[in-house]
Amino acid sequence: MRAWWGTLTAVLVAIGLAISATSPPAPRDPQHSEGLFNLPRAMGDVHRIASAPHPTGSAENARVRDYILSQMKAIGMQVATREGRLDEKATRRLNKWSGRDDPPARLVNLVGLLPGKDPAAPAVLLMAHHDSVWGSPGASDDTAGVASALEVARQIGARGTPQRSLILLITDGEELGLQGAAEFFSDDPLIPRIGAVINMEARGGGGRTSLFETSPGNGQAVELYRKAATWPAGSSLATFIYSVLPNDTDLSEALHGPWVSYNFAFIGRPGLYHSPKATPANLDQGALMDMGWQVSELTQALIAAPELPQKAPDVTFFDLFGLVLVTYPSSLGWAMLAIAALALGLAVSRERNLRALGSGAGRTVALMAAGALLLYALNRLSGAGAGANYYDRLAAIPMLEAMAALVAIASFLLVLGKGLAGPARQAGAVLPLLVIGLAMQVLAPTAAFVAVVPVTLAALAIAARAYLPPLAGMLVAIGLAAPVLGYLIALGHQLM
Ligand SMILES: [Zn+2]
Repeated sequence: MRAWWGTLTAVLVAIGLAISATSPPAPRDPQHSEGLFNLPRAMGDVHRIASAPHPTGSAENARVRDYILSQMKAIGMQVATREGRLDEKATRRLNKWSGRDDPPARLVNLVGLLPGKDPAAPAVLLMAHHDSVWGSPGASDDTAGVASALEVARQIGARGTPQRSLILLITDGEELGLQGAAEFFSDDPLIPRIGAVINMEARGGGGRTSLFETSPGNGQAVELYRKAATWPAGSSLATFIYSVLPNDTDLSEALHGPWVSYNFAFIGRPGLYHSPKATPANLDQGALMDMGWQVSELTQALIAAPELPQKAPDVTFFDLFGLVLVTYPSSLGWAMLAIAALALGLAVSRERNLRALGSGAGRTVALMAAGALLLYALNRLSGAGAGANYYDRLAAIPMLEAMAALVAIASFLLVLGKGLAGPARQAGAVLPLLVIGLAMQVLAPTAAFVAVVPVTLAALAIAARAYLPPLAGMLVAIGLAAPVLGYLIALGHQLM
């Protein structure tokens, strides 16, 4: 039976799911944010802080610091400044920006403490950086983080004395190599009081805010986030990928501590990263609200928790279209792979045809090879490689993404345009993916869900089509294919 209507339905539903998964929640007025996050007030902070570039050591930076301190005091926080010296590399970078040959600038971290009812209870520390790069007003990086931290502290302060203490650490010199965070986490007197750390960052001007990094041993930390977040976003695939990338944020300096740590960022509108166009007007207010709302819920849950999360074995986690956070022990992947193998075995036993099985497997390998080759060639043609400007490539991402989507569709039509007839051929098509799932389950168990879950659901869909009446089998297949494809489209967007 030709299955074009089934494919079309699954694709359309998938696209809808992917769009909703990658869009931040719509900005809401304060009455509807239930004491969690007041977006207009946070935008007021963004306008005050990001009116101009404010790199470390500049007069504009001093003005920004005064403003942040005044806001902390208005919340009722005990405030302090902590000074340090920029290292040689940071000084060179600053002088390269300014074109001068200045002596090392002082860096100034800002610390605010809102004492809790139980001074002995470990505190929750919220962190963001107040410095910008030289030429950018930095409305997203990292004014969105600073404004979120201030607004979360206001919400908590407005409810009276919190259960445990809240610390705001607004660092300096992040853009010069995590200078302020390194200074604080080397020997600050507040360190023994810390029980959990949340950092906020941005590498772009919009999109969903996601939990992209945690301290190692995140089982309990993720469980608390799962319960707290209304619109969770993030995955253990992202935390795995980030852990093998050379990138750093202030949180790198906090990861070695005994506490649990969370790192949140948004990465949409990549052309605005470190850009002169990163103005308050160009900031995606939905992204700011998403960051503030998630961090507010998490902070309030941590502050109210009788015991803070401790280090526990890492878990697999991912948000399902921003609606719920799915978490499970990574070893469950083995059970899924066994189910997948069983379902594929059942499908093949329906049509004992080894040639068809091999031809299906060959098609998938051909599809991956064609897609990879075309993507590589077009990416080179588009100007990637040695000498390409990093920020130009970031700004080109929307075009590159359209190109990649067209390549994926073209490869699919080229290799699988006529469909795969019969359960043996279909099962064969899943075999190479099963091998990839197995390899990931061995090598990177917390990231393996991205292959293991789709393979398991594909195997079940194929078995359903092999054994159920045609219409029922097709409906099961659509129901399983649409969420898998929707997830993978959204993931492709995130990866780009
Ligand atoms: Zn930053």
